Amino acid sequence: MHTFTTRQTLTPAILSLKNDGKKIGFVPTMGALHEGHVSLMRMAKADADVLVVSIFVNPTQFNDPSDLAKYPRPIENDMKLLQAAGCDILYLPPVEDVYPEGPGSSSAVKNAAGEIFDFGGMDKKLEGHSRPGHFAGVTQVVNILLNIVQPDNLYLGQKDYQQYLILNNMVQFLGLKLNVRRCPIIREPHGLAMSSRNVRLNQELRIKAGVIHTTLFYAASLKNILPAAEIETCCFDAINSLDDFEVDYFEMLDAQNLGEISASTREIVFITAVITGGVRLIDNVITSL
Ligand code: AMP
Repeated sequence: MHTFTTRQTLTPAILSLKNDGKKIGFVPTMGALHEGHVSLMRMAKADADVLVVSIFVNPTQFNDPSDLAKYPRPIENDMKLLQAAGCDILYLPPVEDVYPEGPGSSSAVKNAAGEIFDFGGMDKKLEGHSRPGHFAGVTQVVNILLNIVQPDNLYLGQKDYQQYLILNNMVQFLGLKLNVRRCPIIREPHGLAMSSRNVRLNQELRIKAGVIHTTLFYAASLKNILPAAEIETCCFDAINSLDDFEVDYFEMLDAQNLGEISASTREIVFITAVITGGVRLIDNVITSL
């Protein structure tokens, strides 16, 4: 595995591999790697020639400074995991390499014609409602990383479903020749979706948090029985009534655009955010209508 810390060295190395006909698969991460990240790497290894992983804890997507400060950064362990997963190139930049003009520089994503990416309101709901500016930071950093890495395939987890939809829209808007692949959610043995933040939970809460996944599946089983509003309220209350669990949202939406379910809806997403032990957990289940 080759580790690069600057774009000046990384981009030419990748362009030379592409000139040799190699397909580049890219997995952007914030580190503290787990089996969820590894599953994305496996998918990339299966259909690309070169696996590039980035580890960058992006300051512009954290609206809560204490969340940024507490974000785990076990880099030595991450390097071992990357080696084992067959990572070919690690991009591990300092903040100045990603943001030469500082992280406070404009976050707007522009296409070749100078038009600004419009979120269509998707950045204001669900995660965006509770974390103002979060998706501006996510699109800003991924746009920069895509410029630096120039991948053929981009692997994103369904776990961050709203992020996946927004980035997919951004790729279309920019007109990039890039396949975006959605990868399934990998879970802990009791059902909690794996996340780098889970290490901040004690063992009891980690097991108890399996209820989030169980409730999402219960909601999905009710899709043809009860109206959406009733499913949302009943599942919200079921989790919220547990000690130590506070639900931010629990919604049943059109999986294509996170809008209300309508006659044109083909797939539904049941999507939730729950805070427990001071940790924000997000999860979702997608089903056909
Ligand atoms: P992060 O390091 O949290 O920014 O995540 C990097 C990528 O890994 C994102 O595309 C996430 O959606 C994906 N990811 C995180 N957790 C999981 C999981 N449990 N299962 C599948 N993909 C995941």
